[in-house]
Amino acid sequence: MTPRSLPILMPRTSEQRYSCHGCAGCCRDFTVQLRADDIAKLNKQKWEQSLGQSPIVEFRGRKWLRQREDGACVFLEDDGRCRIHAEFGLENKPLACQMFPFVLVPREKGIQVALSYACPSMINNRGADIASHTEEVRRMARLLPELEQARTRPVLLNSRLSASRQEEDAVARAFELLLGRVDLPMSQRLDGAAWLTSMLRQARLDNVRDQRLRDLLDWLVQTFEEEIDATGPGIATPRRMKVLRQVVFAHVEDVKVGAVTGRGIGGLAIRQFWRHHLFGRGRGVTPAIARTWPQEIRFDAVDRVEPATEVGELRAIDAVLLRYLRSRILAGRAWGPGYYDLPIITGLEALWTMTAATGWLARLHAGAHSRSELTAADVEAALLRTDRAAGRAPWLGSRGERLRLAWLAEAGGIRSLLHAMRFTDETLEDDEAEAGDSPDVAAN
Ligand code: SF4
Repeated sequence: MTPRSLPILMPRTSEQRYSCHGCAGCCRDFTVQLRADDIAKLNKQKWEQSLGQSPIVEFRGRKWLRQREDGACVFLEDDGRCRIHAEFGLENKPLACQMFPFVLVPREKGIQVALSYACPSMINNRGADIASHTEEVRRMARLLPELEQARTRPVLLNSRLSASRQEEDAVARAFELLLGRVDLPMSQRLDGAAWLTSMLRQARLDNVRDQRLRDLLDWLVQTFEEEIDATGPGIATPRRMKVLRQVVFAHVEDVKVGAVTGRGIGGLAIRQFWRHHLFGRGRGVTPAIARTWPQEIRFDAVDRVEPATEVGELRAIDAVLLRYLRSRILAGRAWGPGYYDLPIITGLEALWTMTAATGWLARLHAGAHSRSELTAADVEAALLRTDRAAGRAPWLGSRGERLRLAWLAEAGGIRSLLHAMRFTDETLEDDEAEAGDSPDVAAN
């Protein structure tokens, strides 16, 4: 079977919509690695004369699309349009540019289509039904023969045990059900999700396979409310908060090809080390997040921002987080080939830790706009930033990052951080929860 005939598995998130609205955010923000066929196309298009330089930059043996001084793509025009697209058409752009914000994950049954929330249209749920993009994705999948070779990579349940497809689906379903309990506040559901993950980490799973694993998951989903009440989330100690800010750094660090080639790898490493140190220290003003983000916000201003309490904001935050987390879990971007080949349990720990990091970054955004409480706009801005790195920045899959996650998970730190960085403080009335526009999980 070739990629030509592999089934395209669109995300099982019926509430998601997307169409490109041409904001050019991806052209301003992403560093694009080129494939051999992209380079051949660019060479054929003969850009060197009109650009005055090659559009291709080489770094560490790989080829990248050149960026301007401000980090934007060299082909981005003042009106926000892509010059390659305008002159040669969509199909002659580098494949990564055509593909965004879709992410293709090779799986045994076919090509799973995952979604990047680093696109404002995806976050804001704007555009056509996600399923309407199937043919477009199929065309791109045909251009990636390596998907065929990669699609039988096994998925691990924990560091030792492989997971069957049925077991993987059962875990995804359990978290879908738990997160979909819209009768409960989002903070409680997130606490429950982190608790359930910690239970799976502690369980001796060797003898709890297939139906027994499904039974265990059912029981944990049924009992999580009492259990999280009984155990409590724990305290976000200064050390845990320091680790969280380092996780934030790992998600916002943004290496531009121009900076790497201009200052050399040594200069870049020193700069990264220093920023990592400043985030961990957490005193004075925050290091720059990104060009478009507010600069030099005081760390203590971030700490003072409270969770959202206003009903409209609560609903909007709940809706975007639920859509995002469902998309990560159901469309294969939380573990396995869609997320650094992490085992399922480690991938879930990474997801909850990243969610807490998003809570911290949302507070920074709110603080910069003199808000004392989070709003949906803060959460969306933070998610746009943290999801940009998820599954893409190589260091998030590194051994160091895995050790950091293991330390947080073993010490019960993930729950405490999620609680400290909770997005909302609410007690939804039953009728409000029923009237909410969150998806009916049973229908999916
Ligand atoms: S960020 Fe999204 S909406 Fe904006 S140009 Fe890129 S794909 Fe289109």
